[in-house]
Amino acid sequence: MECIFCKIVEGDLPCYKIYEDKRLIAFLDINPVNKGHVLVCPKDHYLNFLDTPVDLIKDLIVAAHYLAAAVTEAVGAKDFNLGINNGKIAGQMIDHVHFHIIPRFTNDNLHPWPGKTLADDEMKRIMGNIKKLV
Ligand code: AMP
Ligand code: ZN
Repeated sequence: MECIFCKIVEGDLPCYKIYEDKRLIAFLDINPVNKGHVLVCPKDHYLNFLDTPVDLIKDLIVAAHYLAAAVTEAVGAKDFNLGINNGKIAGQMIDHVHFHIIPRFTNDNLHPWPGKTLADDEMKRIMGNIKKLV
């Protein structure tokens, strides 16, 4: 298996492990966006968010909820971003699903999610198309 995160799970690659249980592992990101940047991933290999069984997603979210409190306290941050890069276009580099917990600090110069303005009719069209599928 060539997957880096599977190798970490197997203990074949080192990591700065902060937590593990039967189904999950969490470790420091090797190139942290900010100090305390943590990745939470399942021990089993799943490509991305939608490929991952929903019960495992629940476990990941519960762990992220628990760990985010510890991580932010440990590095002296109050706030954090929690997210997934799902797919190449969204910036996913490692094809083994994982949540990022990124502690945030005042004036840390990160500016995620620049907003666009869409016309009202386009917003309504998008809303309608999504609602047909949910
Ligand atoms: P993503 O772009 O969402 O797939 O995120 C992958 C993340 O994994 C990046 O932030 C990398 O810095 C991080 N990363 C890559 N290799 C390792 C590694 N060996 N140990 C810890 N983090 C890693
Ligand atoms: Zn893997």
